[in-house]
Amino acid sequence: MHYELSYSQPKTLDINEKKVKTSSKQTAHSQKPTPDEKRGLETPVQFCPGVGPGRAKALENMGVYTVRDLFWHLPRGYEDFVHVTDIASLPPNGIATVVATVTYVESRMPRGRSRVRHILNATVKDDSGELEVVWFNQSYLSEQIKQGTRLRLHGKAEGRAPFMKMSSPKFVVLSDETEEEAGDILPLYPLSDKLTQGAIRKIVSKAMERFSLYLVEWMPSAILQEHGFPSRMEAFRILHAPQAGEGAPLDSALPEESLLFNTMDADDDEPEALLPEGEINTPWENARRRLVFEELFLHQFSLRLVQGKLKQFTGISHPAPNPEPFAENLDAIELEIKQPCAWPARFVQNLPFALTDEQRKVCREIQTDMLESAPMNRLLQGDVGSGKTVVSVYAMVLAAAGGCQAALMAPTELLAQQHAASIRAFTKTIPELQTVVLTGGMKAAERRAVQQALKTGGAQLVVGTHALFQEDVEFDRLGLVVVDEQHKFGVEQRERLVKKGEHPDLLAATATPIPRTLSLTVYGDMDISTIATLPPNRPEIRTRWTHWINESKVWGFVDEKIALGQQAYIVCPIIDPSETQPDLPSTEEAFEAITEKHLTNRRIALLHGRHSPQDKQAMMDAVRAGDLDAVVATTVIEVGVDLPNATIMVILGAERFGLAQLHQLRGRVGRGTQKSYCILITPERLSPYAEQRMRLMEATRDGFRIAEEDLKLRGPGEAFGTKQSGRIRFHLADPMRDGELLQAANQTAHDMFQKDPRLIDPAHDNMKNEILSAYGRIALRRPS
Ligand code: ADP
Ligand code: MG
Repeated sequence: MHYELSYSQPKTLDINEKKVKTSSKQTAHSQKPTPDEKRGLETPVQFCPGVGPGRAKALENMGVYTVRDLFWHLPRGYEDFVHVTDIASLPPNGIATVVATVTYVESRMPRGRSRVRHILNATVKDDSGELEVVWFNQSYLSEQIKQGTRLRLHGKAEGRAPFMKMSSPKFVVLSDETEEEAGDILPLYPLSDKLTQGAIRKIVSKAMERFSLYLVEWMPSAILQEHGFPSRMEAFRILHAPQAGEGAPLDSALPEESLLFNTMDADDDEPEALLPEGEINTPWENARRRLVFEELFLHQFSLRLVQGKLKQFTGISHPAPNPEPFAENLDAIELEIKQPCAWPARFVQNLPFALTDEQRKVCREIQTDMLESAPMNRLLQGDVGSGKTVVSVYAMVLAAAGGCQAALMAPTELLAQQHAASIRAFTKTIPELQTVVLTGGMKAAERRAVQQALKTGGAQLVVGTHALFQEDVEFDRLGLVVVDEQHKFGVEQRERLVKKGEHPDLLAATATPIPRTLSLTVYGDMDISTIATLPPNRPEIRTRWTHWINESKVWGFVDEKIALGQQAYIVCPIIDPSETQPDLPSTEEAFEAITEKHLTNRRIALLHGRHSPQDKQAMMDAVRAGDLDAVVATTVIEVGVDLPNATIMVILGAERFGLAQLHQLRGRVGRGTQKSYCILITPERLSPYAEQRMRLMEATRDGFRIAEEDLKLRGPGEAFGTKQSGRIRFHLADPMRDGELLQAANQTAHDMFQKDPRLIDPAHDNMKNEILSAYGRIALRRPS
């Protein structure tokens, strides 16, 4: 139970016994609180004014469960209704506000089968000039917009003076002709399906009125002063409802086509924009910095707490192998001893290849951890193809040698089967070791037999998919959990498997390397082992990006290589042709075209997620046996698949894939000894972001560099899948951009931890409350 106890339940993170008193500010509520309000920031959003069950659901879809979450649901930018521009000086294609009078309106319904059912055209005029305005499919606007109506309009002006035009601007009807009503700065929130911008603005502003007094200050005043931070309440106020002159970054000040405002309807190809930095030293920027620091500090401090707590558990102390498998003279030692303690050495001696120095180094690091009684919590990182599997299997053999069971969890059945085959091959000379496989696609009887073997201890090693952590799976003595491609799993999934043992050791493998600047925030509580080099004699992989025009040349090239006995993967982004995006290559169409037009004499199979696990397996076996020349597939083959004779990877519609995915796909070739190729085919016109990805793929094969660039292009949450995994998800902070604040927060957390590691000083009560509520519940709340 240790992970949940230490990480997700505030109760047991309890660092001192005495219950924390609520601060005096919390009780000094002028009105008598309703029962729900007593819960302060923990009040479920459905009790906020203006939130019914429907809206509560929509908010929950965005991760907003409580008032606290709502306050942290920060705007992505602001609409500037304040600064009024003369029509004559509207910047072309810029966002602006004008105040003008309607001089002409026309409402019509176009004929024909157009999707436009209603058009409202208006001309508006101020002292400087005229502007055309048009709204579509909003016939009810005819009621509000009439000749003579004065409007404050906000939107993007297109064209050039004197023929400027605004499409569907937002507007406010001004009541009095003479009076220039002041406009507001309006927050732009991330939205989900059923919530409109207007609705969420009201919900937040009402919640601020009622609940902001619960935003108790927890930061010691010395820190506030040192950094020039505003109070907590003030910081949230400024970010949600900045006043003119406070320095909030306004849409009207943004360059044309700014990423920030394209996020509302951006396709998922584009990176998610963050709330931008403001001008230095404005009240708004100080407020932003304060909340960034707050997030980072609380996270850093909580990591220290968890680490301290974890170290106190007594896990399994696996016995030392004998002889030592990494002794210099291992080859000289005769291994006759039948003792289990000799298995690790037997394993190393009988591998089909010599372990590289890097592999030996990380094996030793893992071994050192496993011999100690504190549970291992280690990340094994190494680029695609660096040979992480054999290292993981070493750890499993070590666990088995000490009388424990070891489980390896893989994200796909294909990979689980492949790993089982590798394990059996690697452990051939240790016949005492029983390896079983547990996947969702297994027949009931087979599954029961495997479960029985695990429960009784009849099998020491198991490889499986998600099926491994299901409730009905029990172990006799689970001593090691290995999670392969760990970024494909949620923290909770990993922990469900871990909980099947008594503080077993944990090894998580990933090919998504993380730059050092970030590892602290992403894997702060894990020790890290890195395999920094590939095994020797790896062939070159040439990567080429080309366009559809050259498609037949590509197939000609593939055909030549097949003629030489090599094999190819052809990957498409989707299975079936898409009605809405007819240009997207699907496996169905590609398969047809390739078999009927391009590679008519070759043996080609189609492989995708809808095939049964047995079919998939049979196909991979056929490729391995050389009975197939090429496989047309979706990303089912993305991770882990290891077929040394495959030398060509053709990715159709490569612009649809992210960098990490492209790198993983490319990693399927270049695993044998032959020179390999990765060909990326895209349309000629690409978004700048997609083009950058293609160029980077051509330029480098180095996974670290790709990860680093990916980070710059997309931001850490996206790039490392931390959003999905629920490990960390900062609302505002971006550890890359806010690196300087990260350093400061880390230092402050360090100092604080030195001084008061258990936060028993009453002056730190509020801080402690804050850490518990912010980090005590992550694993409970975030959907995996
Ligand atoms: P990844 O780190 O991507 O999981 P794998 O563990 O699948 O990589 O290893 C890739 C290939 O390299 C496999 O075929 C594996 O058997 C082989 N391999 C691993 N270590 C070595 C080594 N030291 N020398 C030669 N080949 C190796
Ligand atoms: Mg692997």
